[in-house]
Amino acid sequence: MKSFLLLMLPAFCFAQIHTNDYPVYHHPDLGVHYNIHKTVFKIWAPKASTVILRLYKNGEGGEPLRTIHMSIAQDGVWHTDVTGDIKNQYYTFQIQQDHHWMPETPDIYAFAVGVNGHRGMVVDLQETNPSGWHNDTRPPQVNFTDIIIYESHVRDLSISNNSGIKHKGKFLGIAELNTKNNNGQSTGLSHLKELGITHLHLLPSFDYNTIDESKLLMNNYNWGYDPLNFNAPEGSYSTDPYNGAVRIKEFKQMVQALHANGIRVIMDVVYNHTSGIKTPFNYTAPGYYYRHNADGSYSDGSGCSNETASERPMMRKFIIESLVYWAKEYHIDGFRFDLMGLHDQETMNQISDTLHKIDPTIFLYGEGWTGGSSPLPEEQRAIKKYTYKLHKIAAFSDDMRDALRGAHDVDSGKGFVSGNPWLKESVKFGIVAATPHPQINYSHVHYSHEPWAAEPYQTINYVSCHDDNTLVDKLRKSNWEATEEDLIKMDKLSQSIVLTSQGVVFLHSGAELLRTKQGIANSYNLPDSINEIDWSRKTKYKSVFDYYQSMIALRKNHPAFRMPTTKMIQEHLHFTDYADPSLLLYTISNHANGDSWKDILVVLNGENKDKELPLPTGKWTVAVDGVNVKEEGILQVETVLKVPAISAMVLYKN
Ligand code: CA
Repeated sequence: MKSFLLLMLPAFCFAQIHTNDYPVYHHPDLGVHYNIHKTVFKIWAPKASTVILRLYKNGEGGEPLRTIHMSIAQDGVWHTDVTGDIKNQYYTFQIQQDHHWMPETPDIYAFAVGVNGHRGMVVDLQETNPSGWHNDTRPPQVNFTDIIIYESHVRDLSISNNSGIKHKGKFLGIAELNTKNNNGQSTGLSHLKELGITHLHLLPSFDYNTIDESKLLMNNYNWGYDPLNFNAPEGSYSTDPYNGAVRIKEFKQMVQALHANGIRVIMDVVYNHTSGIKTPFNYTAPGYYYRHNADGSYSDGSGCSNETASERPMMRKFIIESLVYWAKEYHIDGFRFDLMGLHDQETMNQISDTLHKIDPTIFLYGEGWTGGSSPLPEEQRAIKKYTYKLHKIAAFSDDMRDALRGAHDVDSGKGFVSGNPWLKESVKFGIVAATPHPQINYSHVHYSHEPWAAEPYQTINYVSCHDDNTLVDKLRKSNWEATEEDLIKMDKLSQSIVLTSQGVVFLHSGAELLRTKQGIANSYNLPDSINEIDWSRKTKYKSVFDYYQSMIALRKNHPAFRMPTTKMIQEHLHFTDYADPSLLLYTISNHANGDSWKDILVVLNGENKDKELPLPTGKWTVAVDGVNVKEEGILQVETVLKVPAISAMVLYKN
């Protein structure tokens, strides 16, 4: 395949890209901008000798309505104004460079695209606004540490036969209220409201490549980590992938419905690589947007055959402008950066500074690692260990994840909740959200030997996500001898720790229903039968759902679990020395962060054995006893505390 590409597209072979050889265009007006009198086309094609614009009636097939030779203006930008109203016409650009014609392509900024994203569409964005869109506002948010993220996939949420949702697998499916499973329990949006999460994080929902949008009845599935057109929504999630305006409007309807129901929306963004190298990037500025090895081949820090070059001015500009576009046009409230470690810190900081000027409550976080080796020098990467240098950007804590449930790369690896006696210090590290704390012995933390978050909002605490086994599947694999009853205890203990720890909470969709993917970790292209949320589990595991819901409510009612600063955590949160490696105790004292409870005691027992321990002086009220959550109190205790096997307890004293 590679040799084929080199033969057919010689301009794709690069010795090295020297950024200084490329002009930089500074104005924020690239792309296609429509108004009723004229449409302005601007494309950065700095090495092109000719650029042709073609207008079409449809998003695929047919002869061009018009073919226009564009003019070169300044800094590598080609432009043309097409007068008259050409709304809803489709377009392509074609550039000639080094005597070779590239294939026809949309521009990298394309705001609307036809079926399968091969042509751009001239869109009147005003007309894509659902009614009432100008009144749509972001739900209230005070501190980043108040955030409870729920990570899901447009299709997973609604596709099951028992979802009760009409628009299965569509953006509109997420906008449906009052849907129910066969037993009358809420599903979809109503379920999210009932659970109490604050943010819905959607797996890639921009236009990606793998699903053939012209064959939707084949019901193919993909997570969507193969970007095609970064500024247009994915067509297969719309009711009509042929009309580029429909997916835009329906995406906005989804956001509007979520906002109206108090839930903010986070997009998973994948600027670190593209689906292959036959892309609008390479068809307009060949090679420029990608990193290469010394021999000219594409470097592959993503594990997906290529990686983009965020440090280059025009790539950095593109990423920032794309994010600003989603934040402004679609009212997106946060972004999760796939393989953020492939982006340079400078780009991430410029992203943050720009977005936070638009709205300081926009939440940014990412995977602080790469998917392979990269030519980007390690010290420039936005990897986890440098999170403290990033401006208001958080990273996933794999330290906490694996400390709780066991290592991700070893199925049999056990965690604190399944009795592993070596991970207590790592759990403590997670409890203080990877910030500096005088009572942590960092040399005993399993992955990170120093704190990497400057402030608690820079840490995402979680125990499972789409990209691996579900929580209960992982627990089952590592505890094959355990009964389902014990697995549920481990599951509840894991999330109890996440939901009482400092930092930002992240839950994998369906964990609250004990979601299983039948033991398959990497389910990125597997059928719905593996990936869908099976809503009958809400009935079967009602007690698990009730527990998650109550623990979320507990966190929301008690700001002591969501302290906004490291200083506050250092002042109020103290661990109690206890030799038992499976018993972890800490107090949060003195109405921390304005909590109504004066002193809080959290007790975590990771061993399958009941325990007894002496209590600090005074009369304590038990609010969580491992099974029940009752903030007004289950019982009162003093002197001695009995702690059930594999459980979390929360007590308080006023
Ligand atoms: Ca697509």
